[in-house]
Order: sequence, then C-alpha cells, then structure tokens
Amino acid sequence: MRDAIRPLPPETVNRIAAGEVVERPASVLKELLENALDAGATRIELEIASGGIGLIRLSDDGHGIPREELEGALERHATSKIRSLADLEEGGSLGFRGEALAAIASVSRLEICSRIEDDESAWVVQQAGDAAEGPRPRARERGTTVTVRELFGEVPARRKFLRSEAAEKRALLALWQRYLLAYPELGFLLREGGRELAHYPPVRDLRERAGQVLGSATARHMVELSAEEGSYRLSGLATLPLVSRGNRSQQYIYLGRRPIEDRQVSHAITQAYGDVLAPGRFPVCLLFLELPRGTVDVNVHPAKREVRFRDTRRIHHLVSRGLKEAIGGRSDLGRMLAEREDLLLGTPRAEAAAAGREPGSATGAAKGERGTPAQGSLGLSRAGLRSAGSAREAFLSLGGASLGAERQDVDPGRQEERLFWQLHHTFILTQIRGGLVIIDQHNAHERVLYDRAQEALAGAPADTQRLLFPHTVELSDAEMQAYREQEGFFRELGFLVEEFGESTLSVVGIPESLQRFDSGEVIRDILDDVIAETGGPSERRDRALISYSCKSAIKAGEPMREEEMRHLVDQLFGTANPYTCPHGRPIVIRISMDELEKRFQRRVPETDSPR
Ligand code: ADP
Ligand code: MG
Repeated sequence: MRDAIRPLPPETVNRIAAGEVVERPASVLKELLENALDAGATRIELEIASGGIGLIRLSDDGHGIPREELEGALERHATSKIRSLADLEEGGSLGFRGEALAAIASVSRLEICSRIEDDESAWVVQQAGDAAEGPRPRARERGTTVTVRELFGEVPARRKFLRSEAAEKRALLALWQRYLLAYPELGFLLREGGRELAHYPPVRDLRERAGQVLGSATARHMVELSAEEGSYRLSGLATLPLVSRGNRSQQYIYLGRRPIEDRQVSHAITQAYGDVLAPGRFPVCLLFLELPRGTVDVNVHPAKREVRFRDTRRIHHLVSRGLKEAIGGRSDLGRMLAEREDLLLGTPRAEAAAAGREPGSATGAAKGERGTPAQGSLGLSRAGLRSAGSAREAFLSLGGASLGAERQDVDPGRQEERLFWQLHHTFILTQIRGGLVIIDQHNAHERVLYDRAQEALAGAPADTQRLLFPHTVELSDAEMQAYREQEGFFRELGFLVEEFGESTLSVVGIPESLQRFDSGEVIRDILDDVIAETGGPSERRDRALISYSCKSAIKAGEPMREEEMRHLVDQLFGTANPYTCPHGRPIVIRISMDELEKRFQRRVPETDSPR
C-alpha cells in the first residue's frame, strides 16, 4: 500500500526550498545583501563569526520595513502552493522571489530589526520554530538589520555539506568582494568578533574601489573597457598583461550589477589575452554586461549565479573584442618586461645594484656568493647538494649507462668540457654513455623545490635569506584570510613575512632555495590556489605545496647557464623521485644509442640484414 499523498508540513517545504537557495553562509549573505541593495542602502555593515556559520549580521540604512509587515517578511507567501516532494525536487525553475528570508529562517535562528523613516523606533521580530515572535520595539536609526545565527544548527543533513569555517569564510568574503566591486558609491564595513576587519568608504568610481579591494598596484595597471555590439554593452576594467594571477579567481563578471559566472565569458577573456600572457596566467578583470530585456534568462540557477544568454556568440565576441581593444597596443613585450621590473612592488634595479648583481636577477641575496659553480644564480640550495652527487651517479649508471666514469675527470670549472645543453630554453640535454637524456627544466626544478619544501615542513629547518629591501604584497580580504591560515606553512618553508596593515604583507626573507622571487606574486598565487581549492586543511596545504613548487620553479623559456643546468641535474637526482614532477608529469626522457642507431639506420635489425 502506498501512502496517500499529503501536503508536506510547511516547515519541510521551507527546508527543501532552503536547500535550493541557502547552501552555505555565502548564499545567506548574498540574499541579505540583495535585500539591502534593493532597499536603497548607502552604507552596509557585515559582521560574521565562525566563518558565517555561527553568525552573519547584515545592517543597512535602507528604507526599512514597516512594523505591520515585519512578520510577513519571514513568512512564505500565502499564495505559495503546496507541492509534492517530487515537484520540489525538480523545482529548478521555481523562482524564489519572496522566499529567501523564510528559507533562511527555517534553517537558522533569525532575527530581523527594522525601522522606517516615519516611525519613532525600530521593531524586532524573531523567528521561533514555526512562528514569529514580536514585534518588540528597539532603538535604531532607519534601516534594517538581519541576524542569522547557527546556520543549519538544527539540520544536520545539510550542515554536513558545509566545509570548514575557514573555507566558508573564504567563500563568504569572495562573495562580499564581488558586491563591493559592483557598488563603489556605497560604503561597506566588515567586522569579525567585534573587530573591524576592513572598511571601504564610498568612492567615486570603479577604479578607486578596485584599488581598495584588489590593491592599488593592481588597479593602477588596469585599463578601462567600453564596447558595444548592437544593443549589448560592455564596460569595466582589466589588467594590462604585466599584472596577472595564477588562476581565474580574480575575474569578476556582472550582468548589470549582479555577479554571475559564465564559461563563455571566461573563455572570451582567455582568448582576448591570447599569447600576451604565459600559459597558466590570467588577467584580473571586472566586466559589466548590459543587455536588452529578453536576451537573457536569469532563472536557470536557483541562486541566479548562472544565466542563459540568448546570443552567446555575440557575448563572446563583445567581451573578446572589448578586451583586445583595451589592451591592444599596450601589450608590447619589451615595455612590459621593463615595466615589470619597475612595478612598485619593489625596486629591483637599485636592489640588484646594492647586492652586486646584475639587474634582472629578480632579487638580491644578502650574501654574495655569486659565481660559485655549485651555487648558480638559480640559487639551488646547498642543502640539496650534499647527497646529490652520489645519487646522480647511481641513477646515471642504471642500465649499464654510466655517466659517472665519463664525468669523474671533468673539472666543473672548465667550460669547454660541455656536458649540458639547453634546447629552446626549455629542455636540458645531456649525454650518458648509453645515449641521451632530455630533462624538462621546469618539471625538474619543481621536483627539487617540492622535496626541499616537504623536508622543511617535516621539521628540517629551511634556510632563509633576508632581502635587502622587503617586498610588499597587497592582498584582497580573501587572500589575507588564506594567508593567516597558511602562515605557518610560509614560515616553515623559509619565508619571513610580516603583516603590514590589514591588506598588506611585507616579505623580508625568502627560502634560500628560491633566489628567483618575482616580488610577491608567488605568495599571492599560492594563496589564490588555496582559495580556489575545495577540501580540508590538509588538502589545501598539499595544494599550497604543489603551488609553491610550481610557481617558484624556473619556467620553460628561461635561459640557463651550463653550471646552473649541471647544478639542477645534481639536485634532481638527489630527490626521492627524479622521474615525475609533483603534478605527475614526466621529468626525464632517455633515448638510447640503440634507438638512435635504429632511426638513422646505422644498424639494420639482424633478421633482414643484407650480407
Ligand atoms: P524578496 O527579496 O524576494 O522579496 P525576501 O524573502 O528576501 O524576498 O524578503 C522579503 C521581503 O522583506 C522583501 O520583499 C522586502 O519587502 C523585505 N525586506 C527584506 N530585507 C529587507 C531590507 N534589508 N530592507 C528593507 N526591506 C527588506
Ligand atoms: Mg530577497
């Protein structure tokens, strides 16, 4: 016998609806922010605790809610139909207009306090189980404060989908930033545990707000966008190629002023920068799309994060062309490289001069051991060298191909005894008795840095070299939050970093194994990767480790001197696994003499050998 179909209790219906629109603290904040913006707020304050799981309180100075409507704001619309569970499950097309507060209230402890201009006090309503309690009077200026405590406190099934407090907080701050950037004319304040974390006074334009949120160094290198395709419009800001990030997390896309995600647009961005950015580098950009009514469906995603454009090709073209026009002519490579050095994130020339180095070697080490063959300017650390020699000999004699014998009498200082060649500034070629070895320089260095960093994290102290001049790195709130979480990681690797105000780090020392250090980009890139990552703290740390070794390793395309190649190869064969990089890509390819001979048809296989 099947159960008769009964209407679900309203509480259950609300909880299911909440599942669609309220996934996590960030989605609560999104609904509250949109309500505050709809109410014409000019000043918005956010307070959070426990990553937003414990508390989200959003206050605005908008028009408020009259006392008699306050209770209604927490209820689902009376007209809402009772639907079957199955209906609700495929309810992606249901709008959630008028249901956000009710949905949030059903999965938290919610209080709303609001005052309209004409009233002499504010009124407070608290949701209690199924019913609302209040309204009770409270002193307050015009506007509304919504307090959401213990999200999913009574809904364990949903709570277990939440990530750690730190991860939820990162997501929350990332969302907060999206809105800050879209509303430069409004003032925003962020508090945590009563402490003021960040304050963004109203500013005149997008560029100023970008400066507040993304850092002035980034904002200064952004150009304005303005393009049209028929009645489609694009405006915003985008970085010149000399400023870039290691992932897409700093690409902000808006429809009107509503933050959205869209693969087509992301693709168009990447395409616009084409080959002016190295692979794996992404511009920072703020794109505002304005489209005529009826050309976009915003109801494809319950939280309206994704939209469906009627004419995706036109959007793609608009974005790609708009960006190309804005950055075109300004991405001349020579100028870019020169400017890169002058980026206010440090004064490399002066620093290099002071350290007795050539300009262009990104940092100056305090000690002057330049020129020692075993310590090339790559700065591969001495620590790695201790065990490397013998391990290399062991490797190279594998399969009867011993380079050891050939190398024993080679004086490392004598350049004419060339043993290492660089191919296209990307691969290292070296001979072994049995043939040829090709080494991918980036993958090899990545492996060396990764192993060294692992040792450091396992307790073997990493040497730090102090920089003559500290580098400052400006971070977004989310990046700063990720930094605080990973502070120990950076310290153990050998970074000496000081917090310098709410959004700036001062890097005073770097790991000795890392003499090539492009200002603060490495640190910021690692943090961006940490932010982009889902999963627990240990996964994030692994990610940071891989990110660190990848981002700080020598790149394909960088020239190396022979002694540097020699040193890198020495170090590589001192690692536990010289064959694959931390991403799992191969490092070493061998081509045997046999194979070469076969290919050159020097030795025809026995069977059909002509006598
Ligand atoms: P919706 O925004 O879709 O109407 P919500 O559940 O988010 O539904 O909010 C219900 C109603 O409560 C809103 O329509 C609005 O009238 C009122 N409201 C909510 N938040 C605010 C606020 N911050 N300021 C003024 N009115 C608000
Ligand atoms: Mg709403």
